[in-house]
Amino acid sequence: MVQPFTYSGLPTRVRFGWDMLGEVAEEIRRLNCSRALVLCTPQQEQDARNLAEQLGNLAVGLFPGAAMHTPVQVTKQALALMNQLGADCTIALGGGSTIGLGKALAWRLDTPQIVIPTSYAGSEVTPILGQTEGGRKTTVSDPKILPETVIYDVNLSATLPVPMTVTSGMNAMAHAVEGLYAKERNPIVSAMALEGIAALARALPALVEKPDDQKARGDALYGAWLCGMVLGQVGMALHHKLCHTLGGTFNLPHAETHCVVLPYAIAFNAVAAPELLRPVGEIFGDSHDPGAALQAFARRLGAPTSLRDLGMPEDGIEKAVAIATQNPYWNPRPLVEDDLRDLITRAWSGARIGE
Ligand code: NAD
Repeated sequence: MVQPFTYSGLPTRVRFGWDMLGEVAEEIRRLNCSRALVLCTPQQEQDARNLAEQLGNLAVGLFPGAAMHTPVQVTKQALALMNQLGADCTIALGGGSTIGLGKALAWRLDTPQIVIPTSYAGSEVTPILGQTEGGRKTTVSDPKILPETVIYDVNLSATLPVPMTVTSGMNAMAHAVEGLYAKERNPIVSAMALEGIAALARALPALVEKPDDQKARGDALYGAWLCGMVLGQVGMALHHKLCHTLGGTFNLPHAETHCVVLPYAIAFNAVAAPELLRPVGEIFGDSHDPGAALQAFARRLGAPTSLRDLGMPEDGIEKAVAIATQNPYWNPRPLVEDDLRDLITRAWSGARIGE
């Protein structure tokens, strides 16, 4: 039965397709801009340089220094380059790290952003920026941070290595899963969440088999977009807070941490929201135990299975429990210290769910 709800759509213009880089010039002009700074990580410099060359006079420079967790120091360097070149917009070509840099610049300058996502992190359709300074990661939400235009080019996502395809796809699914039981959930967001999870559930096994499968790459990027939309529209709960805490405290890799923790977080919350999570279990073949079903799916794809393997020390478990319980936040199941300790301990060792 439909319940009363509130829905606010986000105004990002989205273009999705194959071989989309030829459309970037038109999108720059559409924003009334003419002097773009292209952003990327050192690893994707060649692709970004090709794009800048293709844009000719519309691109005034390239900043290949984007880094994980958006260090403010890096943002300041890019800011100086923007001012020096008189850039009037940014083009972020890359994953969540590069997109984070574009957002950090837009938050400070209110310059329009074109984003060309090449991973499945979903940051491109959210008004949220996470940045680090002095070893602390803080999050800010502001309409200025939401990118104006997103261009999904399936071909660019095809170079994502298989392990990251899996972990990044699981990172996307995490947004959708938490959207299903979010306090502000609504029928549109829930429909997007389930469509996104289903698209990724189809695509990831096919991509492990054949990483350049164009149809599966299309499904994965489409699913990632939908999951990102969920993240941008409703609040997240235990899973995201836990990953934020673990990633920040022990410097764990972002997508991999989401990938390990998600099945445990689902199993934990399924006790409190079984009906809302039942469709997730159905997608992965076990409607009664969605956490176990998702864990089995991830293991079949060769995903990382424990926080220990990601480098978290065992004596960090108590610290993680303390931080996670220090700052209470909304979750469908109450966060009791002993239960959280059990969850984190099991995720640390990679225990099988349901055993
Ligand atoms: P990433 O952007 O750090 O990418 C990891 C590496 O993969 C980088 O070297 C990158 O250049 C490379 N890469 C990306 N796409 C590639 C491709 N198609 N081919 C080859 N190499 C490729 O990792 P990520 O998981 O995409 O993003 C993680 C960051 O995004 C974190 O800092 C996280 O906090 C942030 N994030 C923010 C939000 C938000 O809404 N604010 C949402 C999700 C993630």
